[in-house]
Amino acid sequence: MVIARPIEGKHRTIKNRINIALFALFLVLPFIRINGHPFLLLDIPQRTFHVFGLTIWPQELYFLHVILLTLGFMLLFFTALFGRIWCGYACPQTIFTEAYNWVGKLVAGNSYGKPTMKKSHWARVIPAWVLLSFLFSFAFVAYFVRYEFMLGHLAAGNIFAFEDTYRPAAWFIFLMASTGTAFFNMVYFRENLCKYACPYGRFQAALIDRHSPIVMYDVERGEQRRQKGQKVGEHAGDCIDCHLCVQVCPTGIDIRDGLQIGCLSCGLCVDACNSVLQKFDKPTLIDYSTIAESETHKVDRQSRPYFRPRTAVYGAVVGALIVVFTALLVLRTPIYASIQRDAELRNRKVADSYQNGYELHLGNMSYTDLRVNVAVKGDGPFEIISRPGTIELDPSQHKELRLIVAYKAEKAPLRPREIQFLITSADDPSMQHVVESKFTFPIE
Ligand code: SF4
Ligand code: SF4
Repeated sequence: MVIARPIEGKHRTIKNRINIALFALFLVLPFIRINGHPFLLLDIPQRTFHVFGLTIWPQELYFLHVILLTLGFMLLFFTALFGRIWCGYACPQTIFTEAYNWVGKLVAGNSYGKPTMKKSHWARVIPAWVLLSFLFSFAFVAYFVRYEFMLGHLAAGNIFAFEDTYRPAAWFIFLMASTGTAFFNMVYFRENLCKYACPYGRFQAALIDRHSPIVMYDVERGEQRRQKGQKVGEHAGDCIDCHLCVQVCPTGIDIRDGLQIGCLSCGLCVDACNSVLQKFDKPTLIDYSTIAESETHKVDRQSRPYFRPRTAVYGAVVGALIVVFTALLVLRTPIYASIQRDAELRNRKVADSYQNGYELHLGNMSYTDLRVNVAVKGDGPFEIISRPGTIELDPSQHKELRLIVAYKAEKAPLRPREIQFLITSADDPSMQHVVESKFTFPIE
């Protein structure tokens, strides 16, 4: 486990601000309720997804697909534009590492992470990390299971799936597994996740181009670095080989060896080198630079070409996905409906009409009461004769109706007919959902 040495500087300050803001967001989001409804909850037990005030039902998972696709392409877009900043500034692994280090320092004081740190300090840090892992996991699980439900059950000491069994409930198993995984990750795995397990790090070479900023060491100016036994100033290059850039690195790599999978682009080594070389009136040897700039040995942030084929394509895809999402949102009606043929009443002839039976499944996908009327439309004299009237649905309520549709004619047509069921809001006729089915005739 690498515990990086603290360092002050411009990038440290930016990183602190972003990390604190995102961390607060992670902790707060699953607990926000608006008019009693979750702001963000992927409610797996109820199979409904509340995303930023929008409730997505299992039938509307395409909303979730568009959101995930948009986030994925945004990651590609920002990587091409600004390099791997996601890893250094916004990745949960980075943010949690900062939080564990902060708690470690709070509990153990200035000796935290140093080789001289006493065992008695570790004995205080470890229980604090266990508690932190539990709190994080509670917030994490609250994205999937209502926190009110978990708190109520934990307070009552009821962690079982059913009253008369001792089998733990799925949410409790999930909570405990998450606590164990978070603890193991931070105590043992940590930087190895970025170096060996994260797929994004492995793709980074394919995601960036000659103009994407990456953290680079200026070999030309830095080498020949100070060798063992040499005094500062006796070497040809500017690097005094102080190793501060390695000690502050959260993954423990030496950026002087070139770009590596383990580099999170956090910029802390830039702060480190800056703080060292400032004393010698020299600029930092490590900085955010691009491959194109490294060829000319000149960092020029002002004239970096941000508009390039790669960024234009990724940007266009992100834009298109946002348009698709907006269109889906505008066209969405909160009426859910699906229709099936009634197996018990397929088709029959009664007096001067032909009749088919249907099962209509209705749902209210809004947070307010809904009143709907059902009508039938098709090529012929179709009519609903079971008279369902105005159907009232409470928020999130589902109902099933059996409908009988008649084709009022003496003689049946040769082929089955397509029919449509129009489910229209009684209060807002512009709100309508249409489902299609077939009307068949008995063989005469
Ligand atoms: S090499 Fe520098 S930029 Fe890369 S992870 Fe280490 S400290 Fe951060
Ligand atoms: S911090 Fe700068 S001077 Fe010190 S070892 Fe790293 S590159 Fe060399």
